[in-house]
Amino acid sequence: MASPCQSCGACCVSYRVTLPRAELDTSPGGWVPATLTDPYTPTTACMREHPETPSRCIALAGTVGQWVSCTIYAQRPSACADFAPLAMIGIGDEACNEARRRCGLPPLTGL
Ligand code: SF4
Ligand code: SF4
Repeated sequence: MASPCQSCGACCVSYRVTLPRAELDTSPGGWVPATLTDPYTPTTACMREHPETPSRCIALAGTVGQWVSCTIYAQRPSACADFAPLAMIGIGDEACNEARRRCGLPPLTGL
């Protein structure tokens, strides 16, 4: 069964994703493409926003609520990998369901 995340993407257009600069591929051992990020604080970066859709992560492909894909899935920040870990089996947490609410999608209740 497909993960609900594959037809959602709400979190990727709702929240700014920040990450330690140590996760950037320009740092030793880092993996997140630095070219898709902007400086945020002296020790952190953030995923760049889409130029035409502020708050939408530049790495998100597809249409929210229909079909989406993270184009850097294997290299996404740890904040993304750790977000709402049970959503993939249909159980959203507060932040997941708030993002879905903002996008007009129903909560994931696990039912
Ligand atoms: S974690 Fe929640 S908000 Fe994010 S894509 Fe999955 S279902 Fe949507
Ligand atoms: S890096 Fe991928 S998972 Fe993280 S916000 Fe952007 S599109 Fe979503």
